[in-house]
Amino acid sequence: MSLDAAFSRAAELDAQDSLAHLRQHFDIPDDVLYFDGNSLGPLTFRSREVLHRTIEFEWRERLIRSWNEDWLEMPARVGNKIAPLIGAAPDTVIACDNTSINLHKALMAAVALRPGRTEIVVDINNFPTDIYIAQSVASQYNLQLVAVPANEIVSAISERTAVVTATHVDYRSARILDVAGITTATHRNGALMVWDLAHTAGAVPFDVSALDIDFAVGCGYKYLNGGPGAPAFIYVAPRLLAESSQPLQGWWGHSEPFAFEVSYRPAEGISRFLTGTANVLSMKSLEAALEVFSGIEMAAVRAKSVSLTSLFIDLAQAHLNPEMFTIQSPLAAEERGSHVALGFADGRTLVDAMATEGIVADFRPPDLMRFGFAPLYNTHADVVRLINRLASH
Ligand SMILES: *Cc1c(COP(=O)(O)O)cnc(C)c1O
Repeated sequence: MSLDAAFSRAAELDAQDSLAHLRQHFDIPDDVLYFDGNSLGPLTFRSREVLHRTIEFEWRERLIRSWNEDWLEMPARVGNKIAPLIGAAPDTVIACDNTSINLHKALMAAVALRPGRTEIVVDINNFPTDIYIAQSVASQYNLQLVAVPANEIVSAISERTAVVTATHVDYRSARILDVAGITTATHRNGALMVWDLAHTAGAVPFDVSALDIDFAVGCGYKYLNGGPGAPAFIYVAPRLLAESSQPLQGWWGHSEPFAFEVSYRPAEGISRFLTGTANVLSMKSLEAALEVFSGIEMAAVRAKSVSLTSLFIDLAQAHLNPEMFTIQSPLAAEERGSHVALGFADGRTLVDAMATEGIVADFRPPDLMRFGFAPLYNTHADVVRLINRLASH
């Protein structure tokens, strides 16, 4: 397909796109082509409006009264807006802290539920913070950290394993891990599973309930578009909640925070995974951005994501010099998340040069250019413009 033909094909696909109307929720500058929603989602008009109202009315005018009028309920309310995106039942997800802290809480809770076991299994290619957190949990409990590539996780799990943790969509290659296979092997050995959904929530369907996942954590500022530093989330299976404890016991996780009791009694529900005061402004921004997902089926989001990444790969194969650019993401759509990694020796320089022209992507060492295709706002025409720029290199 010539690039001219690709532009017409893209126009057809965009005209048939059932999610095309969602683009109008995003305030992306006209001169920017944005392919980095896997690192930081763009500003929504709703977030801006809600933040403005929060500052002028809830904070300036209502002052401390806003806690009771609205803010105290936010972590639970926002958790309930994330829940359907990951197949979770109401009141099983809560928004708080960041992904690293939530992973720490989940791993500590899981290890405490499996006393006597001596190992934590991690994906050695996981995002570094996940590995650092697992290292810290292992050293606090004097456990061994077994770090292996994703395709060796199943064989690394044994009766010594307390907990297994991995990220559903690999942050570099976008490879989707074998969730059912890994979770089943974990449970067969009596261990617990913590999935990181950082590159999943809002872009790739996931079903914590059907897959019988124990714990999951994820990020609010990537495909959920909550804004820089937006709160993350944590899911705990209802069957584990009553016996789960977390290490960061604070007043927000107490059964009755405003009773100001001297001793800690964890809340009955998922709010026992809270620690302290919510970041209201960030959480407001996230809550507003989540409204864009209201009434949208994750299956439609996935179909659009596959269509965008597949078009990019087809055009990359046809138009980019394979001796310079290598596709480092799975070619099979069912094995791929919502970004595509291209290997290119001088990737950092090219990503920086493109950014000065308003084409924003990112780079991960040693040589990966990552292009995020966010189904809520990227178009097929965006994909062809990107290929056009890369092909001219
Ligand atoms: C983005 C990302 C994080 C981010 O962690 P923070 O604590 O929110 O900074 C963690 N894990 C993975 C796999 C990620 O992709």
